[in-house]
Amino acid sequence: MKNKKVMLTGVRPSGNLTLGNYLGAIKNFVEKQNDFKSYIFIADLHALTSYVEPKKLKESIRNSIAMYLSCGVDFEKTTIFKQSDVLEHGFLGFIMTFQTKMGELQRMTQFKYKSQNVGKFGVDTGLFVYPTLMVSDILLYDTAIVPVGKDQQQHVELTRDLAERFNKKYGDVFNMPDVFIAPIGNKILNLQNPEEKMNKSDNGDNKGTIFLLDDIEVAKKKIMSAKTDSLNQVKFDEENQPGISNLMSILSKITGESFESIENRFKNKGYGDFKKEVAEAVGDLLKDIQEKYKKYNNENFLKNILQKGAQKARRVANKKIKEVSKVLGLN
Ligand code: ATP
Ligand code: MG
Repeated sequence: MKNKKVMLTGVRPSGNLTLGNYLGAIKNFVEKQNDFKSYIFIADLHALTSYVEPKKLKESIRNSIAMYLSCGVDFEKTTIFKQSDVLEHGFLGFIMTFQTKMGELQRMTQFKYKSQNVGKFGVDTGLFVYPTLMVSDILLYDTAIVPVGKDQQQHVELTRDLAERFNKKYGDVFNMPDVFIAPIGNKILNLQNPEEKMNKSDNGDNKGTIFLLDDIEVAKKKIMSAKTDSLNQVKFDEENQPGISNLMSILSKITGESFESIENRFKNKGYGDFKKEVAEAVGDLLKDIQEKYKKYNNENFLKNILQKGAQKARRVANKKIKEVSKVLGLN
């Protein structure tokens, strides 16, 4: 256990978890959790960058922990905690903000995307600076590997830049993390709008987003009515056939079948047959997760896990903060 490197990832409790969250981040984490000292956290401070009704936030936090377990996170092996239970995240977040240039934050695609409607001066500063909090989430635990979806790659790169900058100024305090982005399923697209990523905080009628707690039949229908194209060939071609390619990624990531094999099997078949198979695979996955969810969704049980997780995370984070304070001259 001692020699194992650290793996860490987190998800914002900004709604119910989606198929994108599972295939892009959680599944990869689960597959590696035995090979690392593993931490998974509920990024509740990050959820506050946009307004979430407090009652809903509370619900989403609980939903997330139960979901992690239902997706295969092993609470005996992995430390599961809530970010706001470990005050050190905020402390280091503040320090790391001071190491960051405005230009670096302005370049973040998430910032650009989310500030689109309100403009640079109307955007909440939380949306602007939250990457430095993410930097701290990672650096506090000497993280070696961060399994995330493609949209988060830039934030891990920022983490490396800031860690290097800090280490150069103050000494070797932070470990340099690597991002892990799986080759398949790293950006699941909205089923109705395959130009955009599937988001858990998407509103509208949600036909484009599969939530892990969706009614199985509803989820299958969402796959069946996914937007495709008129080329009538099951082929992995993200540029010309984003909808079909997205469904292929979903199927391949769930079953492990290669794109080539999928293409061959559906060579002379229509989109209906193909979609039906994707819908079945998604339905089976959700059924399995939801059965476990029923078992794990118990308040005292979840509370207990979070308490233990917080204790452990605090110990590690506090040690790092002491190191940071010392090199800064704050001790
Ligand atoms: P929000 O709308 O609140 O930003 P989100 O679905 O983007 O929700 P996050 O909490 O921001 O979820 O991200 C959690 C993890 O899930 C990250 O590692 C992120 O890269 C990954 N992820 C999110 N959406 C997708 C997606 N569509 N495909 C693959 N990975 C995804
Ligand atoms: Mg997101």
